[in-house]
Amino acid sequence: MSTKLELPTVKTQLFIDGDWQDGALQKTKAVENPATGEIVAQVAQAEIEDTKRTIKAANRAFPEWSKMELKDRVDLLHRVAQLLEEKVEKLAKIMTIEQGKPVAEAKAEILSGAENFRFNAEEARRIYGETIPAPNKRVYIVKKEPIGVTAAITPWNFPMGMATRKLAPALAAGNTVILKPSSDTPLSALALFEIFEEAGFPRGVVNLLLGNSSEIGGELTASDVVRKLTFTGSTAVGQKLYQESGETLKKISLELGGHAPFIVFSDANLESAADGLIGSKFRNNGQVCIAPNRIFVAKEVEQEFTKLVLDRVQNLKVGNGLQEGVNVGPLIREDAIHKIDHQLKDATERGAKILIGGERLLGEDYEKGNFYAPTVLTGVTEQMLIFHEETFGPVIPIISFVSDDEVIKLANDSEFGLASYFYTENLERVEEISNALEYGMVGVNDTVISHPETPFGGVKHSGFGRENGHFGVEEYLNVKFVALKYRQ
Ligand code: NAP
Repeated sequence: MSTKLELPTVKTQLFIDGDWQDGALQKTKAVENPATGEIVAQVAQAEIEDTKRTIKAANRAFPEWSKMELKDRVDLLHRVAQLLEEKVEKLAKIMTIEQGKPVAEAKAEILSGAENFRFNAEEARRIYGETIPAPNKRVYIVKKEPIGVTAAITPWNFPMGMATRKLAPALAAGNTVILKPSSDTPLSALALFEIFEEAGFPRGVVNLLLGNSSEIGGELTASDVVRKLTFTGSTAVGQKLYQESGETLKKISLELGGHAPFIVFSDANLESAADGLIGSKFRNNGQVCIAPNRIFVAKEVEQEFTKLVLDRVQNLKVGNGLQEGVNVGPLIREDAIHKIDHQLKDATERGAKILIGGERLLGEDYEKGNFYAPTVLTGVTEQMLIFHEETFGPVIPIISFVSDDEVIKLANDSEFGLASYFYTENLERVEEISNALEYGMVGVNDTVISHPETPFGGVKHSGFGRENGHFGVEEYLNVKFVALKYRQ
């Protein structure tokens, strides 16, 4: 692939207590470009003692930050948003080089991160308490207070989006934070912390640790000083962190895996459903927790809908996300390719048929990158692995159904409960199906379900807690009740 990859300048050290520094043992780890296999940077790695002193620094900074004049805190959050907007080109290039997504998607993610900081800056002014009707001579007051030191662990698929949607509300609520991003994509987090530094955050309020995730995670969960843990990632790691946090009874939010159903009823606008499916399935190459993963299509319209989907899939351009016109980038790692191959092999052995794609892309343009052909699979059934396992790749598995009852049963037959979608023109169905779906989010004739203002999160094995909106800030607050008797 000919695109020359010049990584914009970005710091590569840990950010602890307001200083850039190496880990105690001066170790580094390589960051790879998934489109080319090139090593693009070496970043510092924290040891256990680094994590311990980071926790102390965040704890020291908490009293000052939590009591900072509200207007000053709000201004700082707006300043972060402004810097994200000003530096969007540079930040997008960094993200595409380390993560692979098309640069237009990277820009959209950074701007939505800026929006998140703006929303939470405004939300900081609306952390209202309550007064509750009380007997004579008494006043009952409910106050909302920051929790304290907050740890955030984030995945590689939205390196800026996941960090900003945790840090913005945590900081707005008056907490100090420690971020541990994925080892696959530390550079976007580093660039965000350059922005925090430039914005002028007081020492210790924002801290960045890179390194061995179970060591850092173990220290964070074991610490009684860390009072809140917010995690986005796989269900298996979320369960481990939940168990570990039990010892210290931390407040915890978990945004975990998904396996979204996407239902096309016979009365749907099929063109609009096909557009919605392609947009949401191939965004970030399907590596999205809310990506449609099981496509249920009413038997009467299956042929017609499948044709609309195939026409659109044929027009997708796979390649290096830095190249003009590319709308599908590489997968993050080689093992993602093996997982898809395994699911497809299992499905075809059990009778499913691949209509397009179904293989790794090789040859000159794809050389050493992790590229996979956009794939459409029909004849999928409940007996296949792909029906139950999150795919996290560019595969559309089509399952046909006959009745509403049948499709609801199939759609809910999953351990996950994050996002769900359906298309229909029938108002009665809209109400009944959205009530029946056991998911935290439902898109009706729409796939755009993530906004700074609206609650994002799941049920069942997709975790608990909500991000975004006023719900997001609540996750970073404690409720205190004050009972006041003002006369005997
Ligand atoms: P992952 O393997 O669970 O990793 C997520 C984060 O956890 C990374 O920072 C990782 O660090 C860290 N980690 C791994 N093992 C750990 C441990 N034992 N203790 C502490 N931290 C640990 O998930 P991923 O592969 O990065 O992300 C994909 C998953 O995230 C998918 O299942 C997807 O559905 C889910 N996701 C969910 C949402 C949502 O909002 N519900 C959004 C996006 C993604 P290292 O990389 O350094 O190991």
